[in-house]
Amino acid sequence: MMPAAYAVLDLEAAAHNVEKVRAYAPNARIMAVIKANGYGHGLLRIAGALQNADAFAVARVDEGIRLRKAGIEKRIVVLEGFTCPEELEELLHYQLDAVVHSLVQVDVFEQRTEFGQIAIWLKLDTGMNRLGFKANEFNAVYQRLNQCSIISQPINFMTHLANADDKQDPITHKQISLFNDTLATLIPKLESLNERSIANSAGILAWQEALTDWVRPGVMLYGISPFAESTGGQLGLKPIMGLHSRLIAVKQIVTGDKVGYSGSWVCEKPTTLGVVAIGYGDGYPRYAKAGTPVLVNGQRVSLIGRVSMDMITVDLGINTNAKPGDPVTLWGDGLSVEEIALCADTIPYTLVCGVTQRVKIVEKSGYDKTNQD
Ligand SMILES: *Cc1c(COP(=O)(O)O)cnc(C)c1O
Repeated sequence: MMPAAYAVLDLEAAAHNVEKVRAYAPNARIMAVIKANGYGHGLLRIAGALQNADAFAVARVDEGIRLRKAGIEKRIVVLEGFTCPEELEELLHYQLDAVVHSLVQVDVFEQRTEFGQIAIWLKLDTGMNRLGFKANEFNAVYQRLNQCSIISQPINFMTHLANADDKQDPITHKQISLFNDTLATLIPKLESLNERSIANSAGILAWQEALTDWVRPGVMLYGISPFAESTGGQLGLKPIMGLHSRLIAVKQIVTGDKVGYSGSWVCEKPTTLGVVAIGYGDGYPRYAKAGTPVLVNGQRVSLIGRVSMDMITVDLGINTNAKPGDPVTLWGDGLSVEEIALCADTIPYTLVCGVTQRVKIVEKSGYDKTNQD
């Protein structure tokens, strides 16, 4: 039997979203970012659905290994590179590309004498102040890495945008210029074989100048907008995930009744309350405010009271004929995950990433069922 809480994944939307990325960045190759269990959609499942991407990117070595063990032969870039010498061993063994961002990594490379085995992406910190070398140390690091026999040539370059979803913030233009200027001094002939990558989803959608050899879309591949002011649908993307459950109780409440933990929601006029089998234990956001929309039988109603671990409560209105067993959508067709994120003071990334093990995953299309997480 179907558990109460389930997520329906429209995997065919994934290929559509890749084609959308191609339309936005027609001259770039696509490194599909599938870290964090494919943004909560299932690492192997989403890799299978994104076959029209040119490469994959993951955050950690173990994510890359899972893909290789599942037989995936595409190029795979590990965005955090290796964090200890043992991980370098794994990158070599599984033929995973490493992002190089720290002097510790450079030291480890210099100890190795084998010949040309690992492809790297040398990362410039252009203002995010997270991973990467500063512009003033970049040349020296590049020269050192060029001497490392274990690194296959040519070396690729990348940077990451800190605020590309804010179209007004001048930092993005500055970051892109710093990247281009730094590389221009390094390699005078920029039409060389070295490959470059700048843009995440927001960069692809909002910053033409960020489109270089490779783009690194993440959230947009899942049909979700990186911008607070729009939805994936409005950008021509198709959301992959819908989150669903059902009503498990319906009851009348009267003025003055308090609903849920702490009694923070107080009934102001008689109404019908519905209890839905979903909560933060499934990944529904604990901080969704009263008034957050929920679809019951396809109709919008409001969340009331605190979200608890296994249940939420909704206001069905006085004249409802909703009954236990009726279908509920928390996000999906007719209710965007972007809207729910705004109601919970978060971003849609955290909502899809946060769907927990308890939620049954159902695939909408006839994808290969052996290719599951
Ligand atoms: C996560 C990540 C991306 C993808 O970002 P989205 O906003 O999901 O498109 C791209 N590049 C790097 C380095 C990342 O960490």
